[in-house]
This record gives sequence, structure tokens and C-alpha cells, in this order.
Amino acid sequence: MSRGRLFYEAPAPTRTEYQRDRDRIVHSTAFRRLVYKTQVFLNHEGDLFRTRLTHSLEVAQLGRSIARSLRINEDLVEAISLAHDLGHTPFGHAGQDALHGCMAEYGGFEHNLQSLRVVDQLEERYPQFDGLNLTFETREGVLKHCSKLHAQQLEDKEPGGVAARFLRREQPSLEAQLCNLADEIAYNAHDIDDGVRSGLITLAQLRDVPLFDHYRAGAEAEHSELGQPSLHRRLLYEAIRRMLSAQVYDVIDATRKALADCKPAHVEAVRRECPPLVMFSDAMRERSQTLKRFLFQNLYRHPQVMETTGHAQEIVRDLFAAYTTSPQEMKAAFAEQASLDDGPLRARAVADFIAGMTDRFAAREHQRLTGRRLLN
Ligand code: MG
Repeated sequence: MSRGRLFYEAPAPTRTEYQRDRDRIVHSTAFRRLVYKTQVFLNHEGDLFRTRLTHSLEVAQLGRSIARSLRINEDLVEAISLAHDLGHTPFGHAGQDALHGCMAEYGGFEHNLQSLRVVDQLEERYPQFDGLNLTFETREGVLKHCSKLHAQQLEDKEPGGVAARFLRREQPSLEAQLCNLADEIAYNAHDIDDGVRSGLITLAQLRDVPLFDHYRAGAEAEHSELGQPSLHRRLLYEAIRRMLSAQVYDVIDATRKALADCKPAHVEAVRRECPPLVMFSDAMRERSQTLKRFLFQNLYRHPQVMETTGHAQEIVRDLFAAYTTSPQEMKAAFAEQASLDDGPLRARAVADFIAGMTDRFAAREHQRLTGRRLLN
């Protein structure tokens, strides 16, 4: 039922179209770089924290379990999940905010749009086309959000394509909707885990977060020994495990109800006639939002995180300025793009080059170009 690929290719003999998409994503250069890209903690801060790669694997795992239970397309969910963060800059949201600022004159920088640019244009692996030539459905899922301005630009190039829904205010497929929610479930859980293990947040603080504390209390009630400080790590894992399961079951139940109410007969009905269908119950949505607020205030805005955030943003801004002045310092393909003008095309080529960097490559390039070492 796929709408197909931008460049026609004969079907693969043994794999479905979405398995084929997944395989192309796993073999891509951008995918391999995710291992050296930050989620919240910088890549060099410790070996035990999530990177974009482990995050993407966790999203795929959660997404597939829910997809199988809802009997929607597991291969498509896996492909979208593994590709959803390919467009992230180095240094997580700090890097993205800095690059967005640098690109303000040219419509800004959006990581979701960049993920689509990676799979549509920036990967260079095939003789016949740029990018990975993925199916419409995988590309639709990868483009999770898009500003009106960029949606219109995409629509002009590909009428009725992946950006049309942002102009028509329609929904994406169930599989794409599921990936958004699996993303949220995954990072809420692993940021608690990484946050507590790094010492930036404590189990005591988490008493104020009902979603977590409910399962922490349940775990302790069943295993009273987990109250001992030496077993706190097991308590943390057990509480997170219970919280994850509860969210997964909640999504499955709430989505089944929504599907039963709306009864879409076809994927086009999901897109055009229904409200969002893959969802939390109201109660879980509220608890998840409280948790997100907690993480925002106590982890993402923690002074220790903010300090590296400042350095990371400085690196991105300095790199942007350096390559804009001297495009020949970039890899040849980007330098060539940048030589087409000294306005929007150059800026976009510089943004593409920086966005593709790993944390450590960006830090090293910064040191090479400025002589200053801001991060190890
Ligand atoms: Mg994500």
C-alpha cells in the first residue's frame, strides 16, 4: 500500500518496502554518527549515558512492541524510529538552538526538516540519486514537525508530498504518530535514569513527580529491601521498568479506544478524517507532562548542564562564522555548494556540514580553526 519512492525501484525479492527503508537507514553514514552525538550529556562525559544512537534504538524497541500489539506496520515504525533523529546537530538541543540562531535570516534550522534532508539529499550512496530514496511513508514519519515557511518550500518542490499535511492540517499515518509518542516515552525514562546516575537529580527530588513516584512506591512495597541505599540503583531500574510498561499499556488502550470511535477504513482516512489517534489517556498525558516539566527545570537547566551548553553553542557559532568566511575549510562537497552564492545557499551548505558533525569532530574542528579548546 506504499505510495512509493521518488525514484522508482523494482521491489526487493525478499524484503518489504519498509524493511528495505530500515536497512538503508542502518547502513547510512548519518546513522553511524548518532553514536557520537549527544542526547543530554556530552558524548565524552561518560560511557554510560544515552547517545542519539541508543536513544533511537530504544524508540524503535518501544515503538515495535506497541505496533505489534496494535497490529500496525512494525517495519515502518522501526524505519521511522531509527531515522527520526538523523538530522540532529552535535551537542543536542544546545547545538540546534545555536545553529537555528545562525540561520535566522534564512528560515532557521529545524532538526526534523534536517532529518528529511539527510535521507532525501545529503547521504551519498547511490549512483542514480541523492539520499536514500526512502518510501513516502517513512519520509512522512521522519518529517515530524515543519514550519509553514519550510512546508511551503517543500510543497512547491513535491506537490501533495510529505509537507502537504502541515498546510492542510492533517495527520500522518498511525505508524508516524506512534513514533512521536515512543520518542517521548523513551526520553522521559532514560533521562531520569541518566539524570540520577550522573548525580544531577536525586530519587528524593523525584518524590515530587507522581508518574515516577507511584511506581517507585509500588516497587518498594513489594521489595522492602530496595529502600536500602546500597540497592537504590535497582530501585531506580525497577521503578523505570514499571513506569515504561504502564505507559506502553496506556497508549495501547487509549489508541484502541480512539480507533474504535473513529473507525478509519483506510490509511487515507487516518490522515484526512480523524484526529490524532495514537495517544495517551488524559490522565497519563497529564502525568507525562509533569515529568517533562520536572526534567526541564531540574536536569536540562541544571547549572552543570548549562555550563557545557554555553560552550557547545559557542563552538557552533564560531564554526558557522569560520566556514561562512572560508568555505574551503569544509569537506569538498559542502565547499562546492557554498561557492554557489554568498547568501542562502552558502549558509545552508554550512549548516548542513555542521549539523552532520559528531560532538568530538565539532570540538576538534573548532580548535583547529580558532586555536581555542572549549571542550575535551
Ligand atoms: Mg528523539
